[in-house]
Amino acid sequence: QELTAFGDKWQASWAYAELEESASFGPAIHKYGTVGGGAYNFVNQLLGGKLPNVHDTTADHARLKPASEYEKIDYPKPDGKLSFDKLSSVFLSNTNHEEDQPCHLRLADPELPIRDNLPEYAEPASRYCPAGVYEVVEGDDGTPQFQINFQNCVHCKTCDIKDPAQNITWVAPEGGGGPNYP
Ligand code: SF4
Repeated sequence: QELTAFGDKWQASWAYAELEESASFGPAIHKYGTVGGGAYNFVNQLLGGKLPNVHDTTADHARLKPASEYEKIDYPKPDGKLSFDKLSSVFLSNTNHEEDQPCHLRLADPELPIRDNLPEYAEPASRYCPAGVYEVVEGDDGTPQFQINFQNCVHCKTCDIKDPAQNITWVAPEGGGGPNYP
């Protein structure tokens, strides 16, 4: 049985109307910058979303630029009061996946992260993943290895969207696995 009524009810709901009014929020910031996009959004919200829509047709993954164009950011260590390390936050989300299940983060080309993404983008998955799932570690022979700690995945799907080569596919893990926010 197909849930055909779901689409119609969703489109008739207040939540759909509210999201539609702000559909241009992100695209306007991307296109016109923080100040110009902010001005567009301010006026648009005053007018209840009546300004012409702004479309952003460049996918997020296509906007990533090579690491060589940027200075490395030296983040201060988390102080445990106002800022926290990733893994203690993952712990709070009660995330759990049975360790013997197949990895639910599939790589189309397992060699690509180290072969292409590491030299060009300093392997971005180790930074954009909020749960520290992806790591570049040193193998026994001293060469870099791409490690996926899938047990920590909080199911945000950022990796599926952001990988510059679209090499990662998030698939549903075994039933019951994932974050369990109390
Ligand atoms: S879905 Fe989110 S938490 Fe899970 S591996 Fe991808 S980026 Fe990390």
